[in-house]
Order: sequence, then structure tokens, then C-alpha cells
Amino acid sequence: MSGEVYGKVALIGLGLIASSMFWATRRAGLAGHVSGYARSEATRETARRIGLCHEVCESAAEAVADADLVVLAVPVGAMASVAAEIAPHLKPGATVTDVGSVKRRVIDDVAPHLPEGVHFVPGHPLAGTEHSGPESGFATLFENRWCLLVPVEGTDADATARLRVYWEGMGAKVDEMDADHHDLVLAVTSHTPHLIAYTMVGVADDLRRVTDSEVIKYSAAGFRDFTRIAASDPTMWRDVFLTNKDATLEILGRFTEELFALQRAIRTGDGEQLFDYFTRTRAIRRGII
Ligand code: NAD
Repeated sequence: MSGEVYGKVALIGLGLIASSMFWATRRAGLAGHVSGYARSEATRETARRIGLCHEVCESAAEAVADADLVVLAVPVGAMASVAAEIAPHLKPGATVTDVGSVKRRVIDDVAPHLPEGVHFVPGHPLAGTEHSGPESGFATLFENRWCLLVPVEGTDADATARLRVYWEGMGAKVDEMDADHHDLVLAVTSHTPHLIAYTMVGVADDLRRVTDSEVIKYSAAGFRDFTRIAASDPTMWRDVFLTNKDATLEILGRFTEELFALQRAIRTGDGEQLFDYFTRTRAIRRGII
């Protein structure tokens, strides 16, 4: 049990990440009161039914009133409009954070809307599942997972330190990172791999000589993992690629170059090249675990 870090927390967007934050916050007693708001009435109804948040509000303005911490947990493409909507209702001295998977774009979209005297500390928990919506969250989602805080120029050090304590209270390990570097790292570790999974599942589906049931029935771990990843929320991932365009295009360009080189090695029967490549990648894996 950790102590209370914030008097009132407001969660805007009540999907996988926000609902997990609520359960983790409640379990550790990290906030006196948690209010929530989601745009869709059906989501708000579901949230009320399952007891998500102490109070589910009918507007974002109502949810953020008097909040010490406001968490923007909506798809990256919706951050700007939500920031504009809540800005006039924020308490002076409040901290605004977000959990978006892309950081540079969120900072550019959100920061201009926030009034002076409100602290902005962008963040990104590196935790998730292929499920979405208010019923998909659980209290242990962030346990032992990294949460990256991305303070921008002028960010109040105390506000960042307090947010760190909050995430640690939810079980996460916290690091700080620059926004552009964050977006490049995530393009390598998450965004491009998701695109590859989407593509591989699409290719299997297009291949009429192999039926979908054969693909599922005979799939080894690799392909099963692809199908799990490719079941992730389409809105969230559309927004990730539209807003982390440069970094994902850079990594995708390098990826296709390497893939073409391996394709050529297979065609020309260059076993030495394949063996050397796989030996190098195996050494990388063995070096990190
Ligand atoms: P989700 O689809 O489960 O939930 C999103 C919620 O936002 C829904 O309740 C939806 O009704 C609400 N919403 C959408 N537009 C809104 C608006 N304009 N105003 C108010 N509410 C709105 O998504 P999630 O997985 O919880 O993702 C939320 C954020 O967290 C995204 O920015 C995503 O990039 C980031 N994130 C996701 C994961 C993951 O693996 N799912 C991991 C880390 C970070």
C-alpha cells in the first residue's frame, strides 16, 4: 500500500490504459478521488456499471475541475481537441500528463493549449495488451513495466518528481527521455513491429491457397503472436503511424533494405550470408537476457 500522491486525479478517455490506471491507483491508495470522462455515452455507462472511477462525468470540463492531476488517455489524434476543451477548466498548479504512444506530436498538439501555471509532464507507459475499452483494464498492467516521462523545456521538476512517485506507486519503473529519441526508440521496439505483424496477417489472409483455419490450426508461436498483435485497436494504431511518421518511415526503410538483402541471399542460395546474419541476431538476443 503506497500513500496518497494526489488529492484528485481526472482520467480523460476510459480505455485500457485509463481503466488500468484507475484500478492500480485504487489498489495502492494513490489518490483521494478519481473522476473519469469518455466521449462515448456507451463507454461512460459501462464505466459506471463496473465501478470504474469514483465518479464518471458528463463532460471533460466537469471531470478536470479541481483535479491535481489530469491524465489524457485518448488516442494520439484526439489529444489536441481534448486539451483545448479542458484548458479553461484546469486548476492553477495542476499537472497535465498523457499516456500517448507518440511524444513529439502530442507535445506540439497539447502544450500550446495549456494556461500558464499548469504543469505539463508528458508520459508513456510501455505496457498494453491487444484489448481496448473500459472493461479491458487491470490493476497489474504496469507492474515492472517502464513508464517514460518526457519533460519538455521549462517543466517543473517537482511536478515531474511527483508524477514519478505516482507511476512507481502503480508498480512501474520510471525513466526520463527526450521526445524525439522516444519516438525513434518506439519506432524500433513497437511501432514498426506492429506494422510487420499487421502485414503478415494480411498476407496470410490474402493467400487463398491456405485457408484461415489452416493458418490458425498449424501456426507456431511466431504467427500466433502476429495475430495477437494485429488484433490491436485500429484507431490507436492509425494515429501512431500518422503521428510518428518520420521515425517509422526511417526504420521501415532500413527494415525493407535488410529484407531485400535476405531475399536475394535466399534466391541466390547464399547460405553463408543467411548463417552470418542469423548468428549476429542470435548473439544480440543472448546479450540482452
Ligand atoms: P482505448 O481504445 O482502450 O481507449 C481510448 C478511450 O478514449 C476510449 O474510451 C474512447 O471512448 C476515448 N476517447 C476517444 N476519443 C476521445 C475524445 N475525443 N474525448 C474523450 N474520450 C475519447 O485506448 P488505450 O489503449 O487505452 O489507449 C489510450 C492512449 O494510450 C493512446 O494514446 C495510446 O497511444 C496510449 N497507449 C496505448 C497502449 C496500448 O497498448 N493499448 C500502450 C501505451 C500507451
